[in-house]
Amino acid sequence: MAILVVADHDRGMLAPSTARVVSAAAALGAPVDVLVAGEGAEIVARAAASLNGIARVRLADAAALRAQPAETLTPLLLRLAGDYTHIVLSAGAVGRDVAPRLAAKLGLMPVTDIIAILGPDRFERPIYAGNAIQTVHAPQPFQVLTVRASAFRPAGSAATSASVEPLEPEGLPALVRQLSEARTEGDRPDLATARIVVAGGISVGSAEGFKMIEALARALGAAVGATRAAVDAGYAPNDWQVGQTGKIVAPDLYIGIGISGALQHLAGIQGARRIIAINTDPEAPLMKLADYALVGDLFEIVPLLTARIEAT
Ligand code: FAD
Repeated sequence: MAILVVADHDRGMLAPSTARVVSAAAALGAPVDVLVAGEGAEIVARAAASLNGIARVRLADAAALRAQPAETLTPLLLRLAGDYTHIVLSAGAVGRDVAPRLAAKLGLMPVTDIIAILGPDRFERPIYAGNAIQTVHAPQPFQVLTVRASAFRPAGSAATSASVEPLEPEGLPALVRQLSEARTEGDRPDLATARIVVAGGISVGSAEGFKMIEALARALGAAVGATRAAVDAGYAPNDWQVGQTGKIVAPDLYIGIGISGALQHLAGIQGARRIIAINTDPEAPLMKLADYALVGDLFEIVPLLTARIEAT
């Protein structure tokens, strides 16, 4: 058995999800290689090589791999597949694009959104918006897997770095050309990998009200999240949405402010280690689920909390 993890990276930086996918892959119990595919990705490859538990990093550096399109990454992975029994990607934008295409080309079933590795062909994954956990037995000669990175602890740093071996990525099809990219810039941590998330619901009342949520997040060094109701009302941007149709978060601490705890929202926070809920209604589902439930008006509690944290 041998495993290939496909690294996530962005703007010359290895994404935090890769260390988590490596630790998931290590649970399969075989040597783990990491593929870094991109353009000018030497620094990313060196960062990946410093992760604990890596046998080697394979670096495919080519202009056609700049945005890691599935149309180019899949033929590269097909070339490498003969060296491995498992190809593991994070269940992010690239993984969701590549895994079905790769599996179809190999004539097998991809197993997606894995939250636990039970064996080389046994995995757990959430279904029904996280309301049930499915155990999948996939007795096939080769596995294409996507892993919900937030469900795994990140691999640490190795005492000595693994080797970085360049590949010859000539002849890859350049069917897709990236014309532009639009990014939301911000100084807050990334929601999907933040240690602390402060999220607001519809009862925050306005985009102005969300400034209060942001102030608390800033005081805690946290990312800001929101419910779909708050996003639909225009109080918070789309990319703050947490839940079934938003982002999946797995912070050490999740603070839900004026959030009822609808199933679709809870689907996004199941990996949170501790939950604090602030709500006027002690019967709200999130209050019942929370480790600490503060019953009261968010407009009184949040400024007090922020001031107290800023004062310490
Ligand atoms: P509400 O449910 O209206 O809750 C507001 C809460 O604020 C209440 O508990 C109330 O007691 C409390 N409150 C009121 N005033 C105050 C105050 N002054 N101080 C403190 N507390 C107060 N939702 C998501 O979040 N993410 C998703 O990804 C998502 N996907 C969906 C997908 C589908 C297919 C569908 C049908 C729905 C989806 N939803 C999603 C919507 C979801 O069902 C809920 O409607 C939504 O999560 C509710 O948001 P909320 O908690 O902000 O609002």
